[in-house]
Amino acid sequence: MNKGKLLYEGKAKRLYATDDPDLLWLEYKDEATAFDGEKKEPLPGKGALNNAISSHFFALLTAHGVAHHFVKKVDGQSQLVRPVNILPLEVVVRAVAAGSICRRLGLREGWELPRPIVEWYYKDDALKDPLVTEEHIRLLQAAEPEQLQHMRREALRIYDILHPFLQRLGVLLVDFKLEFGINAKGQLIVADEVSPDTCRFWDVGSGQKMDKDRFRQGLGGTLDGYREIWKRLQQTAEGGAECTR
Ligand code: UDP
Repeated sequence: MNKGKLLYEGKAKRLYATDDPDLLWLEYKDEATAFDGEKKEPLPGKGALNNAISSHFFALLTAHGVAHHFVKKVDGQSQLVRPVNILPLEVVVRAVAAGSICRRLGLREGWELPRPIVEWYYKDDALKDPLVTEEHIRLLQAAEPEQLQHMRREALRIYDILHPFLQRLGVLLVDFKLEFGINAKGQLIVADEVSPDTCRFWDVGSGQKMDKDRFRQGLGGTLDGYREIWKRLQQTAEGGAECTR
């Protein structure tokens, strides 16, 4: 399988065509960005870590019957994925208060929510990805009500898979962001990535952050956190770098 023409370049990944129209080549970049790209830094090794971590999580989701775009890891920084049309929404699940919900609602960082909640953000750089309601989403024609229902159910199901899995590794899953897309068969499936760039992971023992907040907040040792997550994931038999679908 060869990497073909560059189709799209985002902040954290590049997407290429391959010889097979049913497969795309997704390459994770060695760069960290935050605050809509305002803060940006080369971070050698980040691409390989996120590729490995995201591949592992997608394989875990496969084992639990979650439909997603990941096919297999092909090299250090790259994986093959199915083509999808991404919906312009970020689906955030929160179990513990951190980040924007603290600023918006005045919550204390670390407060455990009575139950996990789902939030929707409209992907639009000019608008800075605003928090939106389901009615806003209908107004913007960003998704149908049945699609929202499906994404909410899948997002909470993914929380129910990831939370106990990570708990066993001594990692608290604080929150995470998912993106969904429509594949060639018209199915709405999980796409993008599941990594310390898109999830908040705290060490259960020390409360230490092991995710992109280390970069966002200038705490230093960003990649040490990512490495620690990868080290703990490797201790598990579940997951793996590949799935056969
Ligand atoms: N998130 C993301 N991409 C974004 C915004 C958020 O992956 O563009 C993730 C973020 O890593 C966290 C969760 O979504 O795991 C909730 O983020 P929050 O709304 O608190 O954003 P913040 O403003 O703190 O980055």
